[in-house]
Amino acid sequence: MASIRIDGLSKVYPGDVTAIDGLELTVADGSFFALLGPSGCGKTTLLRTIAGLEEATDGAIHIGDRDVTRLTPGDRNVAMVFQDYALFPHMSVTDNIAYPLRIKKVGRTERVAKAAETGEGLGLSALMDRRPGELSGGQQQRVALARAMACQPDVFLLDEPLSNLDARLRLEARTFLKRLQRDLDVTTVFVTHDQSEALAMADQIAVMEAGRIRQLGTPSEIFRRPANTFVANFIGSTPMNMLPGELVGGKLRVGDREPVDAVAAGWVGADSGDGAVTVAFRPEYARVDEAGSLTFEGEVETSENLGASVLITARTHDDHRVQAVVPEGAEPEPGAAVRVTPV
Ligand code: ADP
Ligand code: MG
Repeated sequence: MASIRIDGLSKVYPGDVTAIDGLELTVADGSFFALLGPSGCGKTTLLRTIAGLEEATDGAIHIGDRDVTRLTPGDRNVAMVFQDYALFPHMSVTDNIAYPLRIKKVGRTERVAKAAETGEGLGLSALMDRRPGELSGGQQQRVALARAMACQPDVFLLDEPLSNLDARLRLEARTFLKRLQRDLDVTTVFVTHDQSEALAMADQIAVMEAGRIRQLGTPSEIFRRPANTFVANFIGSTPMNMLPGELVGGKLRVGDREPVDAVAAGWVGADSGDGAVTVAFRPEYARVDEAGSLTFEGEVETSENLGASVLITARTHDDHRVQAVVPEGAEPEPGAAVRVTPV
């Protein structure tokens, strides 16, 4: 069990590719931590650098109170589960799980007993003599997790652990992984490019772009109060409402509406400069036909059924489009006059 502290970390690959760019990050002991970002933003590189599979170009990594920056992977006491699981195809499940113990020169009897115990915890008891080729994707993933768990690491590093599973299995595996992490209580960093996965599973999320962290927070902080337009655009299954606003004497003005207290109104002012701000709110946090401190009056253009709810799009008199999610059955008709208010 240990926290992870990363100070001023950079990783520059040959050819002058900066994959990690002066990154600062602390992962609390025992937390389930997501590194989220688009493809190529440096997630795998960061994980491999924590594991010691890549050498840091600059900066330092501490695990607990140990400076591990220059240690070999074997001396860091971390376990990494790779995106493709990287199981040994010619070895049984038992031997795959026991492999790290063999490297540590643990005796055969003890290795097999430990593999059996770890396998049992992950529901693999009936499969211990099989080879990876005789297992489903979900079973292979459990073997990879069991192999990582067998040597009781201080830290788990999981690179896109669910991306090789089909859609239905992925949802089950989310719940399984979350429960496993809670039971083991081991500091776990998992990488994903899927924002819904990060929101569903993590205690904390770091949103990455181009080798840096753009926002760090709980799923609800990241969802409800994105710190900048990059995060606002990246998170959520419906796009955020984003409108140009202006800060005037500490108040927020959008178009010709009455200026309001930006914080009290529950608004996010993002990427400010020269008083110009982007104000953003989620359609999920908007009410229809309720007067608020700041209200957009407009006319409903379309409504789209999302299942249990409906996404309505309204056009305001000053030609902005605002969206709101309302319960199914409560949606106004196209053409109706509405007021949309962030809450
Ligand atoms: P992610 O996992 O977020 O998709 P990566 O960490 O794999 O991102 O890659 C980050 C950047 O580093 C990308 O521009 C990628 O092309 C580059 N990169 C990754 N691995 C190497 C490597 N071994 N050599 C050179 N460039 C690399
Ligand atoms: Mg990757």
